[in-house]
Amino acid sequence: MELLKGKTAIITGASRGIGKGIALAFAQNGANIAFTYLSSDIKAKVLEAELGEYRIKAKGFKSDASNFEAAQALADDVISTFGSIDVLVNNAGITKDNLLLRMSEEDFDKVMEVNLKSIFNLTKAVLRPMLKQCSGSIINMSSVVGVKGNAGQANYSASKAGIIGFSKSTALELGSRNIRCNVIAPGFIETEMTEKLDENVVKGWTDSIPLKRGGNPEDIANATLFLASDMSSYISGQVLNVCGGMLT
Ligand code: NAP
Repeated sequence: MELLKGKTAIITGASRGIGKGIALAFAQNGANIAFTYLSSDIKAKVLEAELGEYRIKAKGFKSDASNFEAAQALADDVISTFGSIDVLVNNAGITKDNLLLRMSEEDFDKVMEVNLKSIFNLTKAVLRPMLKQCSGSIINMSSVVGVKGNAGQANYSASKAGIIGFSKSTALELGSRNIRCNVIAPGFIETEMTEKLDENVVKGWTDSIPLKRGGNPEDIANATLFLASDMSSYISGQVLNVCGGMLT
């Protein structure tokens, strides 16, 4: 299937993990891909080569999603390289977990900047081209912990809950211009982000998942593909939990 044939997508944080899965799924479905990363130069080159095997245009951009000017420059570059921006996936994110008692101001601010301010930066940057073409789909990566909270992740949960409010407001503001904005709230997904978790924490998560397994990047990529494509053309302002049936 070529659900995104001829469309151009920006995917932030795609050098590995969920973002990489989304880039591959989009490329398989005919989209041109502009993806970003922060420091994984080699992984980005490898992905660029992998994407190049599909009959699409693909380019990796080293661009800090938490930097407002960098987001603007990225959108300008993508327009001049690809000609349009039809889909934006705000996927870049980090964790700096700690109990509140030990959480530093720096770690709170950093997580908010990378996870939440980035969404403002990138959405602002693609707004003009999307308004001009009177179409667009924006998908923001939250988390189930943004819906239900999690001990030891007050900064991360707050940033992910903020994404939901931001996205619902964006959907209300831009719906009349045929621009949709939705949220995906992944559960426990096996990537480098979760690799660093303690074995017992991982077991606790998987035991609590009705489908009895962690998710993989493809599980999230398939949901993102649906929200990016015209298959979801009457869906906006929604949060889709992709979490193996966890109660949230
Ligand atoms: P990951 O494996 O740690 O990958 C994170 C990606 O984000 C990398 O490509 C990284 O680039 C990029 N990145 C980090 N900071 C950036 C910045 N300032 N500017 C641009 N790119 C940046 O994470 P993941 O597990 O795939 O998670 C992807 C998204 O899903 C995140 O928003 C995360 O919060 C969310 N999520 C994940 C899970 C899970 O269980 N894994 C669950 C719920 C939600 P470099 O490689 O260059 O550092």
